[in-house]
Amino acid sequence: MSAQIIDGKAVAAAQRDRIAAEVADLTAAGVQPGLAAVLVGDDPASHVYVGMKEKDCAAVGMRSLGARLPSDVTQETLHAEIDRLNEDPQVHGIIVQMPLPDHLDEVAAQDRIAPEKDVDGLHPHSQGQLMRGVPTYVPATPLGCQVLLEHYDIPLSGANVVIVGRSTLVGRPLAMLLSRKGVDATVTCCHSRTKDLAAHTRGADIVIMAVGVARMLTADMVREGAVVIDVGITRGEDGKLVGDVDFDGVAEVAGWITPVPGGVGPMTRAMLLENTLRAARTQSGQPSS
Ligand code: NDP
Repeated sequence: MSAQIIDGKAVAAAQRDRIAAEVADLTAAGVQPGLAAVLVGDDPASHVYVGMKEKDCAAVGMRSLGARLPSDVTQETLHAEIDRLNEDPQVHGIIVQMPLPDHLDEVAAQDRIAPEKDVDGLHPHSQGQLMRGVPTYVPATPLGCQVLLEHYDIPLSGANVVIVGRSTLVGRPLAMLLSRKGVDATVTCCHSRTKDLAAHTRGADIVIMAVGVARMLTADMVREGAVVIDVGITRGEDGKLVGDVDFDGVAEVAGWITPVPGGVGPMTRAMLLENTLRAARTQSGQPSS
């Protein structure tokens, strides 16, 4: 293997330590950051994700307030619950765990969250501010990718970045984040209709995969020395997590590479805490340390 490993687990641990220290200071000043997760129904994966978020909050000293609603809840009751959390001064960040049951409107629920508590960064206000180049809350996964790249001093200004995937959650906000003034990457956003994907990825200094197709980026699609960030997660038949990158092959060619697990995933979890911390600071008027 020639590539150096981008160790998301270690960077996320350092981020959590910093966040925990800041949470302790803020709590001592009378403001304990609080995150509320709205969980609807009995989807086992959603319960696992919310459980992880609660554990992450506890580990850095944040308060977590779960709101559990039955799977047959109406849109009106869901909105009333979000309104209640919007009004609760102990809650600084609100997330609605997706997916919601089919009868509910996910976008309407996201739009109901007060913009200043939108720590998932999915409200039109957050996405609009990012589009304007003055982000408020950036979705945790794109933010985690940027922090990882900066941690390893990977040059972004003028770099050719190819992002494969254009979702509202990952690909598009990441394109906005890296192409804005001050970061200055030249970004190409590819998707399922892109012609000759390999021609794009081969021309990239940095390839970021956010698709959800196991091992689709192979060594012949990457130029020598490129940086490869793997956001994708698929569960293999053996139950193990697999990324969008054929790790063993690509690591022979790339200069830097993230593993799966242990790359972007831990950063996503840490950046939700970072957004909640920032939300608590902003809402309480406490300047950042
Ligand atoms: P979506 O399904 O919303 O988006 C996938 C994107 O990939 C779409 O833009 C789609 O194109 C594109 N795509 C699909 N097939 C191809 C193809 N053959 N060639 C090129 N592009 C293709 O997924 P998300 O953005 O929500 O998530 C992407 C992956 O990242 C998933 O595996 C998810 O589990 C993972 N993930 C990981 C996180 C982490 O913390 N590590 C956090 C969030 C997500 P089109 O728009 O044309 O359909």
